[in-house]
Amino acid sequence: MDQGLVFSLVFVFGLLFGSFLNVCIRRIPAEEQIWAGRSHCRSCKKMIGWTDNIPVISFCVLKARCRHCKARIGWSYPLVELATGILFVACVARFGQTPLAVVYALLGAALIVLTVIDFHEMFLPDEITLPGISIGVIVSFFLPQLHGAATPWAGLWAAVAGALVGSGILTVIRWLGGLAFKREAMGLGDLKLMAMVGAFIGVYKAGLVDFFLAPILGALIGLALKLRDGREEIPFGPFLAAGTLIAIFWGDAILNWYAHWLFG
Ligand SMILES: [Zn+2]
Repeated sequence: MDQGLVFSLVFVFGLLFGSFLNVCIRRIPAEEQIWAGRSHCRSCKKMIGWTDNIPVISFCVLKARCRHCKARIGWSYPLVELATGILFVACVARFGQTPLAVVYALLGAALIVLTVIDFHEMFLPDEITLPGISIGVIVSFFLPQLHGAATPWAGLWAAVAGALVGSGILTVIRWLGGLAFKREAMGLGDLKLMAMVGAFIGVYKAGLVDFFLAPILGALIGLALKLRDGREEIPFGPFLAAGTLIAIFWGDAILNWYAHWLFG
């Protein structure tokens, strides 16, 4: 099939999938069933017809307001849909039409959901991170090339090591410099997130996220948000998620560059 056509189809599928992610983002923190019927307006409770539920387009046509009660529709809805579309295309462009691209796309989708929930609600739901850890380990058994491993068992052990080390390093980092991002209950959600991520991307890339990418992004963007919005508490999950996406696409290049610089 023509490459442009493939990307277009993947993009549209990503937009629709993003629409489903928006449902997860609203319903998981509210402890509602994800499959519990059609979407309703959060203000007037009227059902949202399918013509008002087309990704991105409906948001523009309705000018970011509910058709019935004119309540504002948040920007996060179209942004999540667009981000998912771009993510899916990027995965296929980078990893081809392979199982690897599907796994990274789904991991990225989970990270989008976690990012938006953490940004608004200041927590990372166990409903995603805990199954995510097991799924990462199981997928690594059936797709050992996720870790550049040759056999299923080598893939599985790489995932377990990634989960342990990914969350372990973060524990140390938090203990050393946790003052900047301190929050109630010590952000155990972040550790579970990195266990999930580590199971998918392995020890080295998880270390790259923990040590390098997330702290730098957190320092730059977190400080900017703090200054602009005066937010007291900045969630760390979004920076771990963003760092993970960078590690998925450019982690090998960064690690190679670093090894070269270190060992010549
Ligand atoms: Zn309404």
